[in-house]
Amino acid sequence: MKSVATLILLIVTPVSASAIDIFACEPEWGSLATELAGDKANVTVATTAFQDPHRLQAKPSLIAAIRRANMVICTGADLEIGWLPLLLRRAGNSSIQAGNPGHFMAADYVRKLEVPKIIDRSQGDIHPQGNPHVHLDPRNIRRIGIALGDRLREIDPANAAYYDSRLADFQSRWNESIDVWEQNSADLAGIRLASNHRSFSYFAAWLDLNIVATLEPKPGIPASGAQLATLLEQLSSNPPAAVIRTPYANERPSKWLSTQLKIPEVKLPYTIGGADNVSDLFALFEESIAILRELAQ
Ligand SMILES: [Zn+2]
Repeated sequence: MKSVATLILLIVTPVSASAIDIFACEPEWGSLATELAGDKANVTVATTAFQDPHRLQAKPSLIAAIRRANMVICTGADLEIGWLPLLLRRAGNSSIQAGNPGHFMAADYVRKLEVPKIIDRSQGDIHPQGNPHVHLDPRNIRRIGIALGDRLREIDPANAAYYDSRLADFQSRWNESIDVWEQNSADLAGIRLASNHRSFSYFAAWLDLNIVATLEPKPGIPASGAQLATLLEQLSSNPPAAVIRTPYANERPSKWLSTQLKIPEVKLPYTIGGADNVSDLFALFEESIAILRELAQ
């Protein structure tokens, strides 16, 4: 009898030293998870570069994915407030709920920019905890990577040495890249830009870009025609180099303003998959800098 029980146990226990299931809310965290966990993780990414991470439908396929996850990696800082709480409730999975090791919010590990003095969601501001688009400063990625490495070791201690070595390798390549990017983009310092949403504040803070205007009067509130007209008037005597936006943003207000000011309207990749050649975090920064350097020439 005992041997039969043992046999059954052997059959139902997963064979591989395998894979933890990771549910990443955005492509940047899916990419970071893959850098650090390699083939020890199956990574599902909830959104693409062409979907607004502030707003997402909690589709059945996402509920199924989060149900089997050992870990969720999201931005936090209320970026996913419109959909992640619902998914977590539907997950029926305690290991990924807030307070447990399987619940990892990247923005918890960095200093937030644009934190409002008074939180007032009634005004429609979708950045009530400060700006959540933290991944576009590569120094934030470095900090978040270290915290994520710790968390992977905690969740899957059997593979701790593997995660340590992946993290060390990633950090060394990442730090070298940051040096190169900073050297290559010295001529971008001070470049004046208008942005549709406050998506690029961390990128701008890192490279000392000067975002002189944001089309949305408040994060998440589209500009009215009158507000765009006022902006046009303010910018027309000294137009910025370009109007920038994410791949998922409505292009109409940016296109209108750029046409009126006779300046380029530029779609930056924003995250993995936001341009054809942007397949990982390294390419994301390389491509974003290359696009802006072309503008600056
Ligand atoms: Zn936002």
